Order: sequence, then structure tokens, then C-alpha cells
Amino acid sequence: MYREGDTNVSSDQHVYSERLASVHERIVSACSSAGRSSDDTTLIVVSKFHPQEVVRSLYALGVRDFGENRHQEAQPKAVETADLDIHWHFVGQLQSNKARQAAKYASSIHSIDRPAIVDSLAKLDHTIDAFIQINLTEDVGRGGVEPQHLDDLVERVLKTDTLKLRGIMGVAPLDGDEEEAFERIANFSLRVQQLAPEATSISAGMTHDFETAIQYGATHLRIGSAITGDREY
Ligand SMILES: *Cc1c(COP(=O)(O)O)cnc(C)c1O
Repeated sequence: MYREGDTNVSSDQHVYSERLASVHERIVSACSSAGRSSDDTTLIVVSKFHPQEVVRSLYALGVRDFGENRHQEAQPKAVETADLDIHWHFVGQLQSNKARQAAKYASSIHSIDRPAIVDSLAKLDHTIDAFIQINLTEDVGRGGVEPQHLDDLVERVLKTDTLKLRGIMGVAPLDGDEEEAFERIANFSLRVQQLAPEATSISAGMTHDFETAIQYGATHLRIGSAITGDREY
């Protein structure tokens, strides 16, 4: 029997498939221009503001890494999709009292930016991947550790058994020079690696700037709207 819903699902699937293929192609091409292998990159599809159906469509197309930036949205979505083998990446600002709850579904937290979050995650009974977010702006409210506190935060994460430090995370300011922002992130990554040689990952690059981020060494690309479409706020 003909049901309208079915047609919509399959045409959505077609749209996601094309967008995903196009982003993959752009990643491969940017990596090749940078003399890198695209095998060294992880595409994280940021599904914020999109319902679980979108996550399921993308999962059916092979996506396993998804990102969310608000606990109150991510938590129920993770519960609804608990039957899928998803790696959830938490990429948004986090209150320390929510950090441990987020770590129940997120296997990576990219937004570790102060001691209170580290101390809260120290009480976990399992290990998660950790990225330290660096603030590239003058505005302390934007999230991310201030550069002068980076080394102390790295040391604190390294002393925390429940956190495996993977590297640095940054968001290039919308109003600034993209290249300069990603170059700074790359330099902060080197600083992290002086204290933690294995923490080589760089979480950087979004829909509008991921190709530049790749040029500057990004390994974890957090891409939303280029794949999911526009968000309705
Ligand atoms: C929303 C979001 C992204 C993805 O943004 P797009 O522009 O849709 O690709 C990446 N990182 C963070 C921290 C985000 O909040």
C-alpha cells in the first residue's frame, strides 16, 4: 500500500546520501592538497536540532560518529537511539554538574575547559576520550580554556585516570581570520604534545571552514549543516 511517509523517508535518505558523499569528497580533496591521508580524519556529524530520525538515516548510510552540543537535547536522543552502535561526541559548553551525566552516553567530550569539569569526570567508573577546548577569543564567556591556563589543565587531565587525553579542540571565531585561527590551534596542539606526546588529535573545522582546518592538521571534523541541512531554531 502506498504511504506518503515512505516516499519521504527514501527521498530524505537520497538527500543525506548525496550530501555525505559530497562532504567526503571535499575531505579527501582537502587532505590530498595538504599532503595528508583522509584516513587520519574522523568525520563527526553534528546532529543538534535534528530528531533521532535524521540520526537513523545517517547511521543507515554508515555514519557512526555523531556530535551534540546541549545535554538536555543530547541525552534523550542518545536514549532513543540506544539500539544503535553510535559514538557520541559532546562538543558544547558544559556545566560541571552535567559533565558526568553527559559522559554516560558520550564516549568523547571535546569541551573540557576548566578544572571543575575534570574533577567531576574523575568520579566516573569508566574511561572516556577527552579534548581540551581552547578559547581563541578575548571573550571568556565563549567556552574554552584561556591560553595561559592550558598547561595546568593538561596536567590535571593527565592525572585523571578516567580521561584519556586525545588532543585539543577549537572553534574559529566567525569574524576573524580563519587561517590564523587554525594556525593558532595547531600551535596549541604542539604545546599540548610537549606535555602529552600521544595527544595528537585536533578537533577543528565546521561546515564553513573544514577545508582550511584540514590544511592546518585537523583530525576530528565537526560538521553539521553541510550534511543535515539547515537547523530550525
Ligand atoms: C554546531 C556545531 C558544529 C557544526 O556546525 P556546522 O556549521 O553546522 O557544521 C561544530 N562544532 C560545534 C561546537 C558546534 O556547536
